[in-house]
Amino acid sequence: MRTVFFDVDTQIDFMLPAGALYVPGAEKLVPTIARLNARALSSGMPLISTMDAHRENDVEFLSWPPHCVTSCLGQRKATPIAAGAVTVSLDAPCPDVRQAGHIIVEKVTVDCFTNPHLAEVLAQLAADRYVVYGVVTEICVQNALFGLLKTGKPVTMLSNAVKELNSAAAEAMLAKFTAQGGEVASA
Ligand SMILES: [Zn+2]
Repeated sequence: MRTVFFDVDTQIDFMLPAGALYVPGAEKLVPTIARLNARALSSGMPLISTMDAHRENDVEFLSWPPHCVTSCLGQRKATPIAAGAVTVSLDAPCPDVRQAGHIIVEKVTVDCFTNPHLAEVLAQLAADRYVVYGVVTEICVQNALFGLLKTGKPVTMLSNAVKELNSAAAEAMLAKFTAQGGEVASA
């Protein structure tokens, strides 16, 4: 059973109170997410971390306050990036990730599948199932969950390792996710 761990947007701007687009309470998840990521890496299971990587004046900043600008502190992950991590950039060819431990998938929208290489990355990894966590539950985590469901493999969201901005929207999303066959578990 090849499980791919999917760590969504756990970057300083979202996770810490000083962040530009702080998700209230997200800092409490940092130890859990660090533990999950370390568990994946130590057991040889691929770990995908999606990361916003905006330019200054990105068009997304018409909808959201500026956040996660490349090379700024807030864009960094709130948990460690493993040595030898492979980055899947928007503007470079898709790398070979078959031997990679930690894979960073950059994006500039709320949907990680707008990185044109993500489908190929998933094909290379040939997962049997996906385990998903991170922020924001009803925004970027939602896009990851529903995009991964389309692969036809089982998808589990870890409910104690995600954080929402709007609890009603998060609950509605979860109802739809489980109705489509998604699973919810605790880390
Ligand atoms: Zn963004």
